[in-house]
Amino acid sequence: MLKDEDRIFTNLYGMHDRTLAGAKKRGHWDGTAGILEKGREWIVDEMKASGLRGRGGAGFPTGLKWSFMPKESDGRPHYLVINADESEPATCKDREIMRHDPHTLIEGALIASFAMGAHASYIYIRGEYIREKEALQAAIDECYDAGLIGKNACGSGWDFDLYLHHGAGAYICGEETALIESLEGKKGMPRMKPPFPAGAGLYGCPTTVNNVESIAVCPTILRRGASWFSGFGRKNNSGTKLMGLTGHVNTPCVFEDELSLPVRELIEKHGGGIRGGWDNLKAIIPGGASCPILPKDKLEDAIFDFDWMRENRSSFGTGCMIVMDNSVDVVKAVWRLSKFFKHESCGQCTPCREGTGWMMRVMDRLVSGEAEVEEIDMLLDVTKQVEGHTICALGDAAAWPIQGLIRHFREEIEDRIKAKKTGRMGAMAAE
Ligand code: SF4
Repeated sequence: MLKDEDRIFTNLYGMHDRTLAGAKKRGHWDGTAGILEKGREWIVDEMKASGLRGRGGAGFPTGLKWSFMPKESDGRPHYLVINADESEPATCKDREIMRHDPHTLIEGALIASFAMGAHASYIYIRGEYIREKEALQAAIDECYDAGLIGKNACGSGWDFDLYLHHGAGAYICGEETALIESLEGKKGMPRMKPPFPAGAGLYGCPTTVNNVESIAVCPTILRRGASWFSGFGRKNNSGTKLMGLTGHVNTPCVFEDELSLPVRELIEKHGGGIRGGWDNLKAIIPGGASCPILPKDKLEDAIFDFDWMRENRSSFGTGCMIVMDNSVDVVKAVWRLSKFFKHESCGQCTPCREGTGWMMRVMDRLVSGEAEVEEIDMLLDVTKQVEGHTICALGDAAAWPIQGLIRHFREEIEDRIKAKKTGRMGAMAAE
């Protein structure tokens, strides 16, 4: 169990004072100018040494990403953009930071921006996060009033402005280049890469886009040292992390714990166990809707981190797990995700625009059992034609849940088709 003194987020449940005074009492904004004094290079090196991997789903090393920004400005300003769009179904961890511990994010924004030579940072917050936006804006205002940000931030000599931008609720704006487009006032449609944002991002200037949690953890990492953070979790999976449990656990929650703990332990310890006991578990979707489903027989010794999930053909994603017990119709559950991704496709590239609709319509038929058994392989083939052939990762996100379903639950799909043909449908499909 993570010790209380090792928690980065000390007000995750909103039980304490979230104002600046409360945050300071809990150790935030402590010696921030001193951290900046150590210089850009030291901060980036320390972040690299901590082993922090991006907390928004892709798991790219944060320090390395920061090092891609130009060392010197060529005349263009640099920007840090913080992705607070958090729209992946089941993922609701960043909202806890923004509404209960907003100062961790603001302090992190100052330090990270300084490390990348950015005098301005934008937080792009999801349209539905109205109370979170209010809490965050109140905290930003407090920091301006206290001189922690703005001209000569914290007395460091560095000028830094932080803007909060409210999105309009499109899932695709969580994709970094779509987010940049939206921030520029255009339709939220992903851009082709290259150029990558570090070369030409917001307004054509060098930009880094980071997830809320990735930024919010950096002040504590720098205060306590890279080796403290990298002491948690397995190699290449360092640190503590905000994770979530939704679905059929007894106590759904968001919690902070170290990476690389057994899935079963996390479900028992934080989720109060599976509804009806461990044997009633059917499957999990590890970290947000796009991660391939894993059935119970894979989960007995499963480790909850980036590498284990990748090695087992799934993905750790955001670490916010959907837990499904035996009452769940998994075919229908994945169909629902297909419908979601179809709805959120921006329509700009053909494999995604046409493929998501095609996949959803075949999933429709698999749910009702009205398909032919051969269509299962046809569907799998279409997912492969979509995967890796689109401008952004939404195509992959739509393909992976279906691939996971076919990999682990093919028999259940086939049974349903056979049952429909023999008129035993009522026994097979949940309502
Ligand atoms: Fe748009 Fe889908 Fe193409 Fe992404 S993959 S750019 S969401 S059409």
